[in-house]
Amino acid sequence: MNSATSPTLACPNPLPAVSTHSPRALPVLRERGQREVFCGLTGIIWLHRKIQDAFFLVVGSRTCAHLIQSAAGVMIFAEPRFATAILEEKDLAGLSDANDEIDRAVSRLLARRPEIKLLFLVGSCPSEVIKLDLSRAAARLSARFQPAVRVLNYSGSGIETTFTQGEDACLASLVPELPQQDPAAPQSLLVVGTLPDVIEDQFQRLFDALRIPVTFFPPRRSGNLPPVGPRTLYLLAQPFLGATGQALDERGAERIAAPFPFGIEGTRAWFDAAAVAFSVSPLHVAEVVAPAESRARTALQQVRPRLSGKRIFFFPDSQLEVPLARFLSRELDMQLLEVGTPYLHQDHLAAELALLPSDVVLSEGQDVERQLDRCRAASPDLVVCGLGLANPLEVQGLTTKWSIELVFSPIHGYEQAGDLAELFARPLVRRDRLEV
Ligand code: SF4
Repeated sequence: MNSATSPTLACPNPLPAVSTHSPRALPVLRERGQREVFCGLTGIIWLHRKIQDAFFLVVGSRTCAHLIQSAAGVMIFAEPRFATAILEEKDLAGLSDANDEIDRAVSRLLARRPEIKLLFLVGSCPSEVIKLDLSRAAARLSARFQPAVRVLNYSGSGIETTFTQGEDACLASLVPELPQQDPAAPQSLLVVGTLPDVIEDQFQRLFDALRIPVTFFPPRRSGNLPPVGPRTLYLLAQPFLGATGQALDERGAERIAAPFPFGIEGTRAWFDAAAVAFSVSPLHVAEVVAPAESRARTALQQVRPRLSGKRIFFFPDSQLEVPLARFLSRELDMQLLEVGTPYLHQDHLAAELALLPSDVVLSEGQDVERQLDRCRAASPDLVVCGLGLANPLEVQGLTTKWSIELVFSPIHGYEQAGDLAELFARPLVRRDRLEV
């Protein structure tokens, strides 16, 4: 095994009334065929930027190292906080003790990088194929290096997963480490899901103005893990955190059901749900968010003419598809042809599903050839898909948007609503220019 560092009040455009259909009544096309998605290692790219004293050591192959290195790019001004411990043929053949090699690689790393306080051993397809037990390795190394360094593990394997599940697995592995909340503590709010710092700061200011005590998970530093317990109410900021939500439920926390904070409507409903849970008056919420909503409305008005009436098709990739489809349909008047998502978490997405048009075509999972046939037959104006499908579809004359870009960009909240709409408008503008 080698250690190889690798280097987003009164509305002049009133929204459609909330439909009253039961979300469970929406028909879902379930497919279990060949899929075209990235693996969960991809999450390291945004997670390592968020938790600033964490390190992600992938235990994998050269393919895993290449994926991370090419997706994350090279850091010029700082040493990277991710690397791949490469499983060589002798490891895969069981001729060497991979655990000894992991211990040696971790010892070398921690001796050289004393600023690391939280180390994740990240499993991959190769480590799972040879049944390398990284949970035992993490426990062994934690016992050796605590209290200076906490060592945890999770799987970023691409077997039966999609790329945003890497964050879910990472955060779920952190939940048991959250301190127990004082039972006498006042009720508090936990916002769950990795957000760029700039968005976290915007949300913090709005919650402060609403006088709702809030913490964010994951935190920026591993020493600031928020306490959790039966006095914790949590709001999901991302729609792909099923395992994390379950782990928080098991700690006694209670989820506040809400749409996700994308666009004006989703962001307002997200804050409204928190306000109801913390008995903040609707009038006060309206006053607090009014300036941000006004700015967002202005921004959306500028983009709406380019998107209104355009027909969009979502391939399953990021798990952001349902909330984004809701935003595009209700706030930008786009027509939804098919909304595909890798996994449909009915509970976490219930508030979103209730806002989709009742005749929407929803699909879960993928049979890529069949879905490509449906897409070509529908002839959409814009296709949201993974990188692997984009180029072939462009060659066939379809306009595409890379769904992974939506995960890498700051898109949550009021201040980013215009940028989010712009991300969908840009490929259409590019296509129009090319056709001139
Ligand atoms: S974890 Fe699996 S899918 Fe991901 S890069 Fe490694 S081998 Fe490929």
